Amino acid sequence: STEATNGNSAAPSEENLKLFELSHKYSTEAAKRLRADGLGQFVRLKEAGSERFRSLAEDPWADHAALNAKEPVKDGAKHKFLILGAGYGGLLFAVRLLEAGLASGSDDILLVDAAGGFGGTWWWNRYPGLHCDIESYTYMPLLEETGYMPKSKYAPGPELLEHAERIASQWKLQDRALFRANVKRTSWDDGAQLWNVELAEGRGPGEPRRELKLRAQYVLIASGILTNPHIPKILGLETFAGPLFHTARWDYKVTGGSPEDATLTGLEGKRVGILGTGATAIQVVPKVAKYAKELFVFQRTPSAVSWRGQRPTDSEEWKSKIANKKGWQRERMLNLDSYLTDAVEEGQEDLVADGWTEMPAFSAVLGSPRYGIVEPTPEKIAQHVARLHKLDVPHSEQVRARTESIVKDRETAEKLKAWYPTWCKRPTFSDEYLQAFNLPNVHLVDTDGKGVDSATSAGLVVAGKEYPLDVLILSTGYVTPAIGGGSPAVRTGISIYGRGGQSLDDKWQNQGAATLHGVCTNGFPNLFFAPLSQSAQAANNVFTLDIGAEHIAHIIAQAEARAEPSGAVIEVSSEAEEGWSLQIMQHAGWFASVMGCTPGYITSEGEALRQSQDPMEMAKKARSGNWSKGMAAFLKVLQDYRADGSLRGIEVTSRA
Ligand code: FAD
Ligand code: NDP
Repeated sequence: STEATNGNSAAPSEENLKLFELSHKYSTEAAKRLRADGLGQFVRLKEAGSERFRSLAEDPWADHAALNAKEPVKDGAKHKFLILGAGYGGLLFAVRLLEAGLASGSDDILLVDAAGGFGGTWWWNRYPGLHCDIESYTYMPLLEETGYMPKSKYAPGPELLEHAERIASQWKLQDRALFRANVKRTSWDDGAQLWNVELAEGRGPGEPRRELKLRAQYVLIASGILTNPHIPKILGLETFAGPLFHTARWDYKVTGGSPEDATLTGLEGKRVGILGTGATAIQVVPKVAKYAKELFVFQRTPSAVSWRGQRPTDSEEWKSKIANKKGWQRERMLNLDSYLTDAVEEGQEDLVADGWTEMPAFSAVLGSPRYGIVEPTPEKIAQHVARLHKLDVPHSEQVRARTESIVKDRETAEKLKAWYPTWCKRPTFSDEYLQAFNLPNVHLVDTDGKGVDSATSAGLVVAGKEYPLDVLILSTGYVTPAIGGGSPAVRTGISIYGRGGQSLDDKWQNQGAATLHGVCTNGFPNLFFAPLSQSAQAANNVFTLDIGAEHIAHIIAQAEARAEPSGAVIEVSSEAEEGWSLQIMQHAGWFASVMGCTPGYITSEGEALRQSQDPMEMAKKARSGNWSKGMAAFLKVLQDYRADGSLRGIEVTSRA
């Protein structure tokens, strides 16, 4: 594209001209969507001004009677490990600690979650059509250890939830969890060398909340990345007269059916609106389309929708080809990751072989071991970005062609085409979504990147036209995990105070992210968090979580062995975290291709794309980035670190 843009060499090649036109189209579409209010265009359900919206955030699934009948966790109780979050991440943390022999006593571990049970994402989300988008054989944690065979290539929500319970049961964690409990604050007590954790336990409607203070030697944060549902601040939305809910808390009382049975008879005869067309809506739309009299899908930005290829698991294939040797699941995770990090070896077998393994350009956000550090010079960055676009074009063209071939109405098909590179939004996969727009009762209301204008008691308004609705479903996503510069405290919605009362948020705000391997930070002893920034990420979030859990358990095990019998205080030195942060900063150039993206939660709704003139601000941004050589290479760094055995950069002292 340099050739195409500088105009001083021979005539640009046809390929470069095409790339140039495409990148022009991409930037025009992105510009339409960039808004000055960025993250401010949304409000968290939990913090909405109106009680109607706040109540939408409550847990519809908790069995309060059963939970109230359990032995209560005592105020002031002390645990060795307090794990914040009981989703797949919290469960993996617990299992890796147990496996390392670190938590043999019955009270050693306490998992705490605001939800009414295990499962995290899969507890809260129960909408019809819910499936994991990563193949279950690689996504569902601990398949080897549990011996469980997923029923299909992409497990539906209830099976994913049941699997969380299976893990809890196999590792006897059911009585080591406190549910319906919102953690608010945690502070390090330097005298006692313990964390104080303050939380409020809900007891169900009409019951007073129990305020509790717990103590823990270690706090492990596995609070997820997409846990806080939010909605756009649409003028008049609270006046909408019909039922309205967010997909993260599906209301089966309105729709009929259940998480196990998408017979949505409650929608028969109704005009239903779905606001949003992200990964959630892709799964919901086909299910609602079957029952609603009319379905209006309100679109601001189309998702890129690839083929799915769902199929039942063949038990013979499972035994002979999939779960056929020790270590198969990690190998499969790595195999999938190699396609997404553009690191496929010659002759390598594509084990997963689905839509994910067709997008090497996703390495734009995951990194790749095949290339070195991208130097931050304008020329090198431009070359790197151009290479990624070149890599992406065949795929994104194919996705647009697929849209055209499925959707019969030409105009609708055009509007459903995604005009941004693959890496800008979570890619989606469905063999039903685009097809739904061929049904006579399904209508696409495209807002040309502007979003819905306003709402009335009767429906939604787009470009001055009111669309009357009986039911409105908000599929508008979650607060970005990058909020607060990616501070683990902000994204968990808690305050964390370390040594000397230092606030973790202040630390992140003042100097930017500062960790060793993305899992711990100086001044906050015995605090560990699931890796997000300053680590590598995988498209398979469970892979990232497991690598984090494994690494943290190793660090704690080595430290505890040294500090026996009194227990360890573990703290990364500021020199070590500076060293790691500097390495991460050097990797920042790789991620430059995100700068041309259409806004979304990955770019903090466009806020991350703003260039600052302040070098300090730019440095902070660079520090909160990731390792650019992909997960496999990152894992090698962690393994080498652990093999060395010295816990370099980590200070271990014995508790007094
Ligand atoms: P979560 O499952 O989000 O669990 C975190 C828990 O922490 C929550 O239950 C929350 O209530 C609790 N918590 C947070 N803060 C507090 C607090 N202050 N006090 C008390 N409790 C708190 N990723 C994939 O790789 N593949 C997929 O197919 C996929 N599908 C997804 C589908 C949906 C609808 C969503 C929203 C996300 C999906 N993800 C997917 C991302 C997904 O979140 C992760 O894969 C994974 O389940 C995260 O596990 P986790 O334990 O880290 O977080
Ligand atoms: P997203 O944030 O991806 O989608 C929100 C949608 O709401 C977007 O289409 C957004 O448009 C739209 N929107 C927001 N404000 C307005 C407005 N004012 N007017 C019109 N439209 C608006 O949330 P999801 O819940 O869909 O997905 C979140 C993430 O959860 C995914 O990226 C994925 O990681 C995960 N997930 C995975 C699934 C799986 O397949 N297993 C299923 C569901 C979710 P715009 O794009 O223009 O901002």
